[in-house]
Amino acid sequence: MSVRAKKKLGQHFLNDENIVNKIVSAILELEAKKMIEIGPGMGILSKDLYQKDFNFSAIEIDSESVEYLAKNYPNMNVISGDFLKLDAHKLFDEDTYIVGNFPYNISSQIFFKMLKHRDHVPGLVGMIQKEVAERIQEKAGTKTYGILSVLLQTFYDVEYLFTVNENAFTPPPKVKSAVIKLTRNNRKNLECDEALYFRLIKESFGQRRKMLRASLRQHIGNITDCKFLTERPEQLSVDDFIQLTLAVEKYQNK
Ligand code: SAH
Repeated sequence: MSVRAKKKLGQHFLNDENIVNKIVSAILELEAKKMIEIGPGMGILSKDLYQKDFNFSAIEIDSESVEYLAKNYPNMNVISGDFLKLDAHKLFDEDTYIVGNFPYNISSQIFFKMLKHRDHVPGLVGMIQKEVAERIQEKAGTKTYGILSVLLQTFYDVEYLFTVNENAFTPPPKVKSAVIKLTRNNRKNLECDEALYFRLIKESFGQRRKMLRASLRQHIGNITDCKFLTERPEQLSVDDFIQLTLAVEKYQNK
């Protein structure tokens, strides 16, 4: 008996062993000591991971899938629960890699949780919607460069590994998919106020057609000596946003 796919849980089960092998190879290259898989479903990836030489847990929200895994892979460590709600201090108590064919409806939230715990998440290999994967790796100056591109690139190197077609899944999703790899970069703490950095990025992309002078008025009053104010958010690189945050801090401390 297999698990009946539930739409609201973003269940699209991989059915193509060639794709599975490609993803598993990319995962094994991480050389992890500890790994969590988000959304194992029926374990098509997990079956090739759980007996390897690292600490592996699979986190699954769907009780039917959890039962399926318990029956078919009794030695697999499966955590029944919602990844977004699980206690991060237990999940990320040591360097922990994140992998999976993710539920696409929560992929951004997965990345935000990872960013919050980035010093314990050295890397990730995961499948997400193709458009999101493309956006994440975009550089400044392109139309699709956005909040997640800047925030992830602040702390991670992003690699687009390969595209996966709809027919590799049962049921097929409406969108194409892609596997990406994120690797923690060398940036430790930002030289600017991190909360303010996140806020300025979110607020400026919230009105991406406007110049920063307009969208950030409440933070900057009418300062003029900052070169970014006549630009739009998609034109700013990570370093530019750091410089912008420093300029705003300086203004606010005056
Ligand atoms: N990895 C499997 C299943 C992918 S579908 C495969 O490739 O075949 C996505 C999986 O994520 C589903 O099993 C779904 O139940 C699970 N899921 C959805 N939301 C979740 C959440 N918040 N936490 C953990 N798992 C979740």
